[in-house]
Amino acid sequence: MNPLRSLILAAARSATTRRVVAGAPVSRDVVRRFVAGETVEEAVAATRRLVDAGLSVTLDHLGEDTSDAAQAAATADAYLRLLDALGPLTAGAEVSVKLSAVGQAVDEQLALEQAARICSAARDAGTTVTLDMEDHTTTDSTLRVLAELRGTYPWVGAVLQSYLRRTLDDVAALSGPGSRVRLCKGAYAEPEAVAFQSAAEVDKNYVRCVNALLAGEGLPLFATHDPRLVRIIGERAVAHGRAPGEYEHQMLYGIRPEEQLRLAADGHTVRVYVPYGAQWYGYLMRRLAERPANTAFFARALLSR
Ligand code: FAD
Repeated sequence: MNPLRSLILAAARSATTRRVVAGAPVSRDVVRRFVAGETVEEAVAATRRLVDAGLSVTLDHLGEDTSDAAQAAATADAYLRLLDALGPLTAGAEVSVKLSAVGQAVDEQLALEQAARICSAARDAGTTVTLDMEDHTTTDSTLRVLAELRGTYPWVGAVLQSYLRRTLDDVAALSGPGSRVRLCKGAYAEPEAVAFQSAAEVDKNYVRCVNALLAGEGLPLFATHDPRLVRIIGERAVAHGRAPGEYEHQMLYGIRPEEQLRLAADGHTVRVYVPYGAQWYGYLMRRLAERPANTAFFARALLSR
C-alpha cells in the first residue's frame, strides 16, 4: 500500500490526531466538501437537492466504534429520526449502516437487534437498508448479521470490497434472487494475507466481481468513481443484457459530482452516499487517504490560518 495512505489511515486511529484535527477550525471547511452537515435537517436538505437533480441517495449517520449498549441504541434512534424526517423523500433515499456504530464490537447480538430496529423503520417508510463493510476482522460477523436480517427483511443489502481475496466467493454466495450487493474497492489498511495490495490486482478483482454480479439474480450496486471501471461496468452490463435500471452506479457525496449528473442524464440510476453527523473524523480520514491531492488541500488550508 502507498506509504502516505498507510500513514493517514494510522492517524485515523490515533486519539491525539483526532483531537487536533477535529478541534482545528479549518476542519469545518474541509469537512463540508465531503459531509452534508451535522444535523438531520442539513441531511434532509442535501437529500432534497440531490433528488431534485435526478439522483438517488443513501444516507449514513456518521459514527463508529460504539462501546456500549446505550450508545448503540442512540445511533439506531438517530436513524429512526432520520427516516421519519425524510418523509416522501424515502422514494429516492435509503440508509446505510455501519454495524460498529450499533455495537458490533460490544456484542454481535446487540448490533443485530439495533440494526433490526432500523430495518423495521425503513420498511415502514417504504425504503431499504444497506450494511457498510468495515475492516476485515468484521466481515464474517457482518455477513452473519446480514443473513439474520434478510430472514425478515429480504431487501437488506451489504457492501463487499474487491481488495479482499475472499470477495469473489462472497459475491457468489450473495448474488441470488433479491440480493443487493454494493461493490467497492475497500477503504481500510489491510494486510497482504487477506487483501490484494496493488491497485491493478484490486481493479482486476473488481471486474471479476462485476461480471459475477451482473450474471447473478440480484441488484448490483457499483460503488466506484474510477472512470475506467465505470466504462467497463457499462460495457459488461450490455454484454450481460442488463438495462440501465437493472443495476446502479453509486458515488460519494462531493466526489465527481459532474460525473454523477452525466450518468443520470444518460438514464442510469445514480445513488449518492451522503454522510452526516458530528462524528465525521474517521470518514474524513479515509477520504483523505484515498487521494494525496485531498491531503494537500487539507494541509494548505491548515497552514493558511
Ligand atoms: P479510486 O481509484 O480510489 O479513485 C478513482 C477516481 O475517483 C480518482 O482518480 C478521483 O478522481 C476520484 N476519487 C476517488 N476517491 C476520491 C476522494 N476521496 N477524493 C477525491 N476524488 C476521489 N469502502 C469500504 O471499505 N466500505 C464501505 O462500506 C464503503 N462504502 C462505499 C459506498 C459508496 C457508495 C462508495 C462510492 C464508496 C464506498 N467505499 C467503501 C469506499 C471505497 O472502498 C473506495 O475507498 C472509494 O470509493 C475510492 O475508490 P474508487 O473506486 O472510487 O477508485
